[in-house]
Amino acid sequence: MDVDNAKQALREKIWRLMTERKIAVFPLPCWGRIPNFVGAEKAAEKLRTVKEWRKARVIFANPDAAQRKVRENALKDGKTLIMASPRLKSGYLLITPEKIRGKEAYASTIKGAFKFGVRVEEFPKPDLVITGCVAVDAYGNRLGKGGGYGDAEILMIKDRFGEVPIATTVHPVQIVERVPVKPKDQKIDIVATPKEVIYISKAKRHETRKTCKWYAVCPMKRFYEEGKLDRKWIENYCMGNYESCVRYRLEEKGILHPDNMLPNGEIDESLK
Ligand code: SF4
Repeated sequence: MDVDNAKQALREKIWRLMTERKIAVFPLPCWGRIPNFVGAEKAAEKLRTVKEWRKARVIFANPDAAQRKVRENALKDGKTLIMASPRLKSGYLLITPEKIRGKEAYASTIKGAFKFGVRVEEFPKPDLVITGCVAVDAYGNRLGKGGGYGDAEILMIKDRFGEVPIATTVHPVQIVERVPVKPKDQKIDIVATPKEVIYISKAKRHETRKTCKWYAVCPMKRFYEEGKLDRKWIENYCMGNYESCVRYRLEEKGILHPDNMLPNGEIDESLK
C-alpha cells in the first residue's frame, strides 16, 4: 500500500469509528470532512489555557465546524481572527473583534465570517495557527481530509512569516500511533483534546524524520508488531539508516518486491 492509500485508509477508519461510536456530530455524515466531535467545545477551552494562545494577538484558523468554538473564543478574547474560506475559494477573511462584540458565536460560523469579515489577501502575522485534522500522532504528524488545504495554508503562512506555532483540537480517538506522511506534509506543535493539551516537543518531531517514511505501510512493521520479526531490523533500518534498506530503495524506484523481503534484501520464507 502506498502512502496515499494508507492515508485514505486511515481517514476511512477514523470516520467509521467516530460514526459508529456516535462521536461525530453536525455536520453529518463526517465522511469527507474534518470531523466535528462531541467535546469540541471543551477542547477549545483547553486550547485557551496554553501560553501560545494567551500571548496571541492574531489567530489564523481553518473554517471547519470542529474548530468553530476555537474561532469564537479567539474573538471573545479580543484576538484578530483570520479565517481561511472553505477550500480557499474566497481567500481569507479578517474579522476584527471590536466590530462584532456580542456576535462572536455567529461571526465564528462560515456564514457569519462572510457577513462580518473583510476579504483580504494580505494580513498581519498570525501568532498562532489553528488547523483541522482527521487524525494526528504523538510526533506532530497530521492527516487532513485529503484536499491539501491545511498544508497549503500552513505553508503559505511559513513562506510569508516564518515559523509560527500550529495547533489543533481533536477527539482522543483521532490520536493514532502513526500518521502516514510524505516529506512535504506539515507538522503540528500543540494538540488539545477535551481532557488535555499535548505539546509535541522538537525532539519528537525530529524523531519522525529519523523514521523511514514507508514505515507506516511497510510489511516489516506488521511482522514486527505480530512478533514475527526481531526488533533489530526496525532499529537498524526503519528507525535508523533506512536509506541503506533494500526495500526502501526499491520502494523509491517503484519496483515491486515481496512482502517477506528483509531490509537487507534476503527473503525470509517464515514471514507470512
Ligand atoms: S524495512 Fe526498509 S522500507 Fe521498510 S520501513 Fe524499514 S527501512 Fe523502510
